[in-house]
Amino acid sequence: MRQILLLLLLMFSAIPLRAAVEIAPRGKNPVLLQDVYQQKGVPYIAIEDVLDAVGLSGHWNSIKHTFSIRTRRGWAEISPASSFLKLAGNYYPLREKPRFIDGRLRVTDHFILNQLFLLVGQPIYFRNLDPDSDTPVAEEKNTLEQLFAFLLNKKTKSSGPLVRAVAIDAGHGGLDPGVIAASGFKEKELNLQVARKLAKQLKMKLGVTIYPSRDGDYELSLEQRLEPALKEDVDLWLLIHAQASLSPEPRGVNLFVRSEGVANSLATEQETNKSVDSPSLKLANQLALSLREAGIQVNGIYPSPLLYLGRGSLPTVQIELGYLSNEEELLQLQDDRYQNQLVQALFQGIRSYAKQLKGER
Ligand SMILES: [Zn+2]
Repeated sequence: MRQILLLLLLMFSAIPLRAAVEIAPRGKNPVLLQDVYQQKGVPYIAIEDVLDAVGLSGHWNSIKHTFSIRTRRGWAEISPASSFLKLAGNYYPLREKPRFIDGRLRVTDHFILNQLFLLVGQPIYFRNLDPDSDTPVAEEKNTLEQLFAFLLNKKTKSSGPLVRAVAIDAGHGGLDPGVIAASGFKEKELNLQVARKLAKQLKMKLGVTIYPSRDGDYELSLEQRLEPALKEDVDLWLLIHAQASLSPEPRGVNLFVRSEGVANSLATEQETNKSVDSPSLKLANQLALSLREAGIQVNGIYPSPLLYLGRGSLPTVQIELGYLSNEEELLQLQDDRYQNQLVQALFQGIRSYAKQLKGER
């Protein structure tokens, strides 16, 4: 009997105690939030719940590794990798970095009390109903940092085809729509359409194996998104995205490569004959060249300091196909013929890149 009692006691003490908070724009009825994790008196509340309670919305960008919040002053951004809230070009310090706990990105009371009013444009009412209860949080076994620190050190092959397999990542999917155009058209759809077309071209005309990260409208975990790029025979990794701007004018393609060792060689972007160190940059140069030859505007090749491109030597280019915020380009991007044109140019760029490699061998 005593043992049973002990067991019961142990069981009860193992049940996580959930804290709860109330939140609302000042003067409105507070919303009760109960999915709250509390550590040392600091409540961690899912950013989506917080935004909901104050009438804002936002979305997680699993590629950029940031959470974007739509506000009257433009897009605001937070990230588990950053101690700042970015809003309209300004950085506001956060006492605690946002954290993923139990699968949701969470902010603390400090964010709610000190920064949220900037986003909402009015004072915020907030009350922690249970400031003393702590929630035991299991250590997250894979921090995002670790996930993205994967190394892709490709050995130079002395024989055989130079491009054996291509990993193609159609950005976003499922509950993560990516950028949404004013018309409701979602980036995730465009990404998938273009990724499928490009895969088909590469398979048919170059006979290479394609590893898509997704082939439908569903969400991917970070592991799932990275998996294709980690395959042994993958020699290229392409990430397909589109973007949006707060202004309706910007248009055209932007190409991103991982920033390590790229900054210096970016100056040579136009001079494709000159040998540059980064294989990603070589690939990006060929893509830019063939896109421009096809009459498609390319704004440039940019280094991306973000972790999501991984590290190492696997030639990797993130292709931002265009701006869903530009009315004219939005129509083009939804047009089958324009998509084919884009895909044809990307295919040509990949072929030129393979030829260039062959010449260097
Ligand atoms: Zn995207």
